[in-house]
Amino acid sequence: MAERQLYLLKSGEIWLKGGNRPFFERMLRRHLHKTLKPYRPKILMQKGRFFLAVDSGGTAAAEQTLAKTFGLVGYSRAYATEKTLDALIETAREICREAVNSRRTATFKVESRRSDKSFPLNSYQISSKVGAAVSEAFPDLSVQMKDPDLVISVEIRDRAYLYGLTYPSPGGLPTGSAGKGLLMLSGGIDSPAAGYMMAKRGLVIEAVYFHAYPFTSQEAQEKVETLAGKLASYLGSIRLWVIPFTDAQLHIRNHAPEQEHTLHMRYAMVRLSEMLARKIRASCLITGEALSQVASQTVESLGFTDGASALPVFRPLIGLDKEDIIALARQIDTYDTSILPYDDCCTVFSSKHPLVKPDRELIQKSYDSLNLEGVLLDALKQAQMIRLPRQEPF
Ligand code: ATP
Ligand code: MG
Repeated sequence: MAERQLYLLKSGEIWLKGGNRPFFERMLRRHLHKTLKPYRPKILMQKGRFFLAVDSGGTAAAEQTLAKTFGLVGYSRAYATEKTLDALIETAREICREAVNSRRTATFKVESRRSDKSFPLNSYQISSKVGAAVSEAFPDLSVQMKDPDLVISVEIRDRAYLYGLTYPSPGGLPTGSAGKGLLMLSGGIDSPAAGYMMAKRGLVIEAVYFHAYPFTSQEAQEKVETLAGKLASYLGSIRLWVIPFTDAQLHIRNHAPEQEHTLHMRYAMVRLSEMLARKIRASCLITGEALSQVASQTVESLGFTDGASALPVFRPLIGLDKEDIIALARQIDTYDTSILPYDDCCTVFSSKHPLVKPDRELIQKSYDSLNLEGVLLDALKQAQMIRLPRQEPF
């Protein structure tokens, strides 16, 4: 049998309490099973703790996955050994070596727990003997009880379990636990960040991109594919729907007053997104809008475009400043792609002097008089689906 690597998973405490816990656990299991399938993942639950075991060839994949798994706040490599003092010491030294090699480590402590009372040393004795042996092997490290750089945990149960460094995971809720949402994904800075925020709350995400070829380039679409791929590294994979939007744009341009173009285009996009959402059984839409960032994102404009969908439209960035959004985009590694200079259909067709505070009734009447529904249905028929795998090279 191939050797296996074990991980201790630290779940967000919130969902570990209460009656919904088994549901969240199931979602987490399902996500890890799906994402790590080639490495024969096995998830074990022991005394309220989660362990993941994978084939040792899958450690890089497992660690990249765990660093991007919603519902976890962190993970540690775990080592199961024989219940002898020698084995504990050898493994503790191994953990220490891993820590010293991977980050600045000057202080440590050993914490022990003994559920198997037949083990001859009590937890205090285990900590002091293992601690002394680590100090002997790493004379530069000093013991520190409060906030040390490294905590080596020892648990004596059916076997001995040891864990060292905890690496961060993003938190949030397990993927799939909130159902499915459709993200309106442009090539900009905002919508990928918005998708990340809602995915973190447990939504599976599919994305839709409105393409205005030949007014927007093939490169613009490739940029959106790259951004979707970045989100896929949190979700396992993502489906991107590309909908040709040129006919709708031209129809609006030829039939509506110039200052209304942007609003009608936004309304039509939301309308089409809702149609697609129903087709793929998504139960909400997600956009990257932030209050008053541009003319189409004032309270009045959002009030109008909101009316295009009976499904809820989530705008997780609504209260954020651009600076905050940029910080998030950098954190999730979408920023550098988002600022590549390809035109979006909004920039090509936008009004020069857009309405900022549209009168709801008048603008609705104007939109209805465009009779766009047939054009939108045609566009929907031509939707193309691209499945994007996660980006990591494993
Ligand atoms: P972003 O940075 O996400 O492009 P933005 O501030 O440029 O946002 P708009 O261009 O007005 O704002 O778009 C508002 C929202 O509409 C976007 O956040 C996105 O959710 C959606 N959107 C805009 N253009 C497209 C498009 N071509 N395809 C799909 N969704 C789009
Ligand atoms: Mg944009």
